[in-house]
Formats: sequence, C-alpha cells, structure tokens
Amino acid sequence: MFEKSLNAYSHAKKVIPAGVNSPVRAFKGLKGTPPFIQKGKGAYLFDIDGNKYLDFVQSWGPLIFGHCNKDIEEEVIKTVKLGLSFGAPTLLETQLANEIISMYDYIDKLRFVSSGTEAVMSAIRLARGVTNKNDIVKFEGCYHGHSDSLLVKAGSGLATFGSPSSAGVPSDLIKHTLLCEYNNIKNLKQCFEDSHDIACIIIEPIAGNMGLIPASHEFLKACRELCDKNNALLIFDEVMSGFRASLRGASGIIDVKADIITFGKVIGAGMPVGAFASSSKIMNHLSPDGSVYQAGTLSGNPVAMSAGLASLKKLKSIDNIYENLNQKALRLVNGLKKVANKYNISLQINTRGSMFGFFFCKQEPKNFKDVGLCDFEAFAIFHHEMLKKGYYFACSQYEAGFISSVITNDMIDNCIKDASLVMLQIQGMQNAK
Ligand SMILES: *Cc1c(COP(=O)(O)O)cnc(C)c1O
Repeated sequence: MFEKSLNAYSHAKKVIPAGVNSPVRAFKGLKGTPPFIQKGKGAYLFDIDGNKYLDFVQSWGPLIFGHCNKDIEEEVIKTVKLGLSFGAPTLLETQLANEIISMYDYIDKLRFVSSGTEAVMSAIRLARGVTNKNDIVKFEGCYHGHSDSLLVKAGSGLATFGSPSSAGVPSDLIKHTLLCEYNNIKNLKQCFEDSHDIACIIIEPIAGNMGLIPASHEFLKACRELCDKNNALLIFDEVMSGFRASLRGASGIIDVKADIITFGKVIGAGMPVGAFASSSKIMNHLSPDGSVYQAGTLSGNPVAMSAGLASLKKLKSIDNIYENLNQKALRLVNGLKKVANKYNISLQINTRGSMFGFFFCKQEPKNFKDVGLCDFEAFAIFHHEMLKKGYYFACSQYEAGFISSVITNDMIDNCIKDASLVMLQIQGMQNAK
C-alpha cells in the first residue's frame, strides 16, 4: 500500500540527499519511509498510493485552516494573476504588517523575509547592532532555524560555550553562542555573570522543537529581568507559536514582553514567509535608514503576502477560534492519555492553543534532557501504526503537533479509538523489555 511512495523515494534519493529537502521528512529513526504526498483537502492528506491521512502536521504548523481553504485560495489566485514578484513595494506588505503589528501594543514595525531561519538570523544581527555586543544566549532544545551561530548542541547543562552540532560550522563562528538549560533560572543567571557581552536572549517562549514544552512564567520573567539589568534584548522566537498558541502567540498567554519577535509559518499560511518585529527605536537601526544590513530579493512576495493576509483576517474574524482549537487539542491528548493509561503506559501531555504534544515518559519533561529520557521505541511504534491507520502525526517525539480548524471532534474520537489497539502493542513491547 506504500508501493508508489517507496518507488518515488528511491528515485528521489538519487538526485536529492536522503530524498528530502528538509531532514525531518526522511523519517529517520522511525519504521518505514515517508509517503509522497499528492494533495491535501481540508483535514486530510492524500499520498500517491491513494492513502488518506488525518493531518496533525499541517506542513509543520502553517495551515491552521487545513488544506485548500477556499478564502485563502481565492485571494492567492487573484494575486498570482497580477504577477508573481516585482522586487518593489506593494500594498499587500503594509496590510499584512498592520495585521500582525496591531496585535501588540509595543511593536511598531516589522520586516518580512522568506523563512523563519532568515527572520531569526536577522533579528540576532539587529540585536547585536543595537546593543553593540556580541554574545547571544540560546537554550538547549530550542530550534531557531539553521543559521551557523544557532546550530549549537547540548553542553554540560551549566552555562557553557557551546560546540557546533553540525559539520561545516567553524567553532569560531559559535564562540559567541552561550548555551543554557530551558526553564533553569540559576543557569541563566550564571551565564550573565560569566559574560558581560550579551546582546540578546533568544527563546521559544513555547518550545515546539523538543516536543511541546512551554517556558514557565517565572522563567520568562527572569529572562526579561536579566535582559533589562544587563542592557540585552529579549527575542521571542514565535515562528511556530505565533498565531498558533493564540492571536498574540505566547504573549496572549504570558505577561512578559519581548523586545523583538520573530514570525513565520502561520503568517504565510503555507507560503514561504518570515518576519521580525520590534519598536520603531530598534527597527530604525535597519538598513537603509540604519547601519544593520538586511535584504531579500523575494522578501514580501505578493503571493505569499496575500496568503498570509487572508489567513490572519480569517483568524481574527472567528470568535473564540483558539479556545475551540484548544478544546480539540485537549480532547485529543486527554483521550490518548486515557487509552495509554488503560494499558499502564505513561504518557505526558501538553497543549497551548492549537498546539499539542505528548511524550512516552514517566515525568513531565521541562527541558531537552528530560525529553531524551522518553521511550523512543514506543513513539516509533505509535507513529508507524497510526500512519498505517490513516493518521499523519509528526514523525518525531521532538516535534509538536497541530489542530486545524477543519478537524472535528468525531475525527478526534475515531483517532483515539484507533490508538487504543496501538497502545496495546506498545504495552507488549514495554513489558517485554
Ligand atoms: C520552524 C522554525 C524556525 C525555522 O523556520 P524555517 O521557515 O524552517 O526556516 C525557527 N524557529 C522556530 C521556533 C521554528 O519553529
């Protein structure tokens, strides 16, 4: 039943490294190989073998209205017919900037780029340019795209100079990246004692790249206070959580203000868009008015802008949309936990708005190291068996899952019913250990 995908995968591997254009798609560490997708429709994905899946990945977050939403599609088609790109200002850019900025009382300006990676990379350059300092603080397990200085792996858990987690990144380039443990205030304070050259803290206030692990309120408050005390800037990387956790991302849930916010994913509704935003005072440091250089040939691309604009307008027009999405997220993870517990399997769960996460482990993970203690074999069975039953979950325990507005309670209830049999299999595996 995966014949065509298997064949397509072997062809792809000949011309594309590992057959994929982003590593996580290769299903490494899991059973099986990735289905090749033919199309999406509403809550479902269809692969080239004709299998149908309920989609909990949604292109890793962007598609909050599911696939082929009519309102978004219509706007995009209208824009496409006027030309794909001009490399000159259009009205759409100002409109989308306004839609995003209007959610925050402390954000005045924003600049668009074409990916989350670019947004974060630019935000960090801006923070360094504004503060005239070099070091950046990053947390273990937070992902901020694949730019050199952010590809730093785990240290000892104490404030430490990180080492690169990718070949091809000179250690000279990451000597200014200080690595700290997520949700560990003591560790962070130590970091500010060790270095007096910290330009910024970059954090996912709701981490979605080590499973779903929200930062505690106290931790984010400590980030804010340490930045204020040390003339450093606080960057919230909301590329994933922006317009996903709430209309104001993490800021809609937690009362801590960042200096710079980065966006991506939902603001492009499936088209390549990123953005970084801040006060006028900070943003005016950008070229051509200021001395921090930043540019992009396709930045603010009209087709991408129209997709994002239609999506954000729609999000704002629907009352209680995030509450409803969260209720469905809770229905799903609570249901999964219940069937897991029935078979004596420990499952830890989290939700924030339309984001959800679950971990096969005994205690709720608070940081990257905790996630490493989870049962990865159990997850691999869950993923593979659920895929065979028509459920497309993120292919790693280190990824968050997403509810789209077109996923119904019935779909979720069926999913939980089908998961019951899979949990029985996992129990067999865990007991045999
Ligand atoms: C996805 C993601 C990025 C990178 O965005 P790309 O568009 O893949 O470059 C950066 N930060 C966070 C928090 C993300 O989830």
